[in-house]
Amino acid sequence: MEYFPAPLEKLVEQFARLPGIGGKSAQRLAFYVLGLPEEEAREFSNAIIDAKKNVTCCPVCQNFTAGGLCPICASPKRDGSVICVVADPRDVAALERAREFNGRYHVLHGVLSPMNHVGPDDLAIKPLVDRVAKGGVEEVIMATNPDTEGEATAMYLARLLKPFQVKVTRLAYGIPVGGHLEFADDATLSRALEGRQEI
Ligand SMILES: [Zn+2]
Repeated sequence: MEYFPAPLEKLVEQFARLPGIGGKSAQRLAFYVLGLPEEEAREFSNAIIDAKKNVTCCPVCQNFTAGGLCPICASPKRDGSVICVVADPRDVAALERAREFNGRYHVLHGVLSPMNHVGPDDLAIKPLVDRVAKGGVEEVIMATNPDTEGEATAMYLARLLKPFQVKVTRLAYGIPVGGHLEFADDATLSRALEGRQEI
């Protein structure tokens, strides 16, 4: 990398920090950006600043939104008595695409992972317990991924919610063990929701 002028090297370094981008890819992306017309390069950098500045977490479900309540929490058409708990905002997008679920969501922003030092305080668990404690919730669907950490997180939350006497269910899979919700097709997701079981 020392063969490049300093500003270009800096750009390569920034791309290399992105997940899944190795040194060669970082160079390719930096060269691509350098080849853009100035206007397009500006749009690209503005999109980063704009997203960082204006994307917030919904105060109720913790999903990403552009300030205030997210559209799903704000919609009177969605059933507030059913909460579907997911690890990641991308899982909300996947389930919404399946058009099967008419309740509301709760986004944990991760799963429990002792190996990666992710504990209950690192996730949006307290806001979920607060929501359930407020009442009006009849069912909580655990829709974390069917891998070890997703299962452990679902079990942990089920125990935590037990005192509130809500029905806690787990998606029926459908989705292969070790698989990711994000990559499941719509039909699989619909079946998984329909066949959910109490845990
Ligand atoms: Zn929300």
